[in-house]
Amino acid sequence: MKSLLSVPPVPFPLLTMVFVAALAACAQGPPAIDGAGTITIAGATLIDGTGAPPVEDAVVIVRGDRIERAGSRQDVPVPEGGEVIDATGKFLIPGLVDLHNHYRDGLEQWSWALQLHAGVLTVRSLGSDHGQTPAMIAEAWAGNVAAPRIFTAGVGFSHPEGFPPGKLGPATEEEAREMVRDLAAQKVDLIKMWVDTFLDTRPKIEPGIRAAIVDEAAQHGIPVSAHVFFEDDVWQLVDAGVRSFVHGVRDGEVDDEFVAMAQENGLTFAPALGQAKTFWWVAENPELLDDEEFRAGIQPPLLERLLDAENRAAMLASETTAKRRVAFDYMAKFIRRMNEAGVVITLGSDSGAGNIAYGWGTHHELEALVEDAGLTPLKALAAAGAAAAAELTDDPDFGSVAEGMAADLVLLTADPLADIRNTRRIDRVMQAGLWLERGLPEFPQPAE
Ligand SMILES: [Zn+2]
Repeated sequence: MKSLLSVPPVPFPLLTMVFVAALAACAQGPPAIDGAGTITIAGATLIDGTGAPPVEDAVVIVRGDRIERAGSRQDVPVPEGGEVIDATGKFLIPGLVDLHNHYRDGLEQWSWALQLHAGVLTVRSLGSDHGQTPAMIAEAWAGNVAAPRIFTAGVGFSHPEGFPPGKLGPATEEEAREMVRDLAAQKVDLIKMWVDTFLDTRPKIEPGIRAAIVDEAAQHGIPVSAHVFFEDDVWQLVDAGVRSFVHGVRDGEVDDEFVAMAQENGLTFAPALGQAKTFWWVAENPELLDDEEFRAGIQPPLLERLLDAENRAAMLASETTAKRRVAFDYMAKFIRRMNEAGVVITLGSDSGAGNIAYGWGTHHELEALVEDAGLTPLKALAAAGAAAAAELTDDPDFGSVAEGMAADLVLLTADPLADIRNTRRIDRVMQAGLWLERGLPEFPQPAE
């Protein structure tokens, strides 16, 4: 009572003035910010990357390398001063996040230029950093090389005689732990493990070794992501502590018990459906060979083989392709089921593997998530947006368009929600507040 009485009474006329002022503010919307030094993208339909419904006639204000405000024109008035881009009739999405890439020693800058061109602004390098690649990633972080934001697993683990060749293949649990400690000293963002027989051609990394890797990684606070094929391995890896998977179950259909386990443990899957189709996709769609962005992102020797019609026919006829189609059908069904059960699906294209062109591959995977796994285009964009970003770091400042986030934006000339393939209809790309000069790079000539 005492405290209430101690508050001086507000004079009636002042209350009225406050009320009137509040009404006026409602009618005019919030006050505009000072626009000096800003870039404002006004009038586009905003798809913010979180899976939230699109916002028509949106205004996104960029200051420096950050998004200062984003929302509908009613909530975010166009500021006075600064640069204003009229984006009426266009569509704005966050810079794409791709969780599954392999870069080749000496081809890093070429790969990254292709990805920047395609609006892929955050990537995860998944276990193939050999030769100069780690040094190039450091150069990219230092701002000396044009590149997306790069997270990396360094070099990944497999069985000593496993696939791919040249990976870390510890013979004992203690050796495995030592290798994890080395990776921790290199400050990798995660540990990668291949757990697969590669169509019964290679031995799988031993379960005891896997568990030692995951345990040692946990002691250093490093997450583990596993390439999987078989359902049994997912169970074992989850038991060991793995939550993040690339590809998916491809040896049969999972039951309700598996679905419940995936939900309870918060598993995530980045399927690389586009990569799985690669063994027949080009042969069945040879018009792709006329697609500039596809051609530019494939290494010339591989492109030569694809251009050879006899070789394409052999790809379609091969027994291995037949096996891969069966595995693909299982995986597509698996990802569809996980998505329907609310398990998080993320985008990982496996760019750099096989016929997956950098840049193009990310868009190809978006299409596959919709066409083959039944995600809505809105959800596919979240798989390449906030969902993927959340897997890279605890409190991401990229992967969605909102106040305070990095100004990584892709402006499209056609609606990706009407047709997911419209993500390739790029008008411009902004990285950290700067419009990029886009263009397809030439394949690098070998050093003298
Ligand atoms: Zn891969």
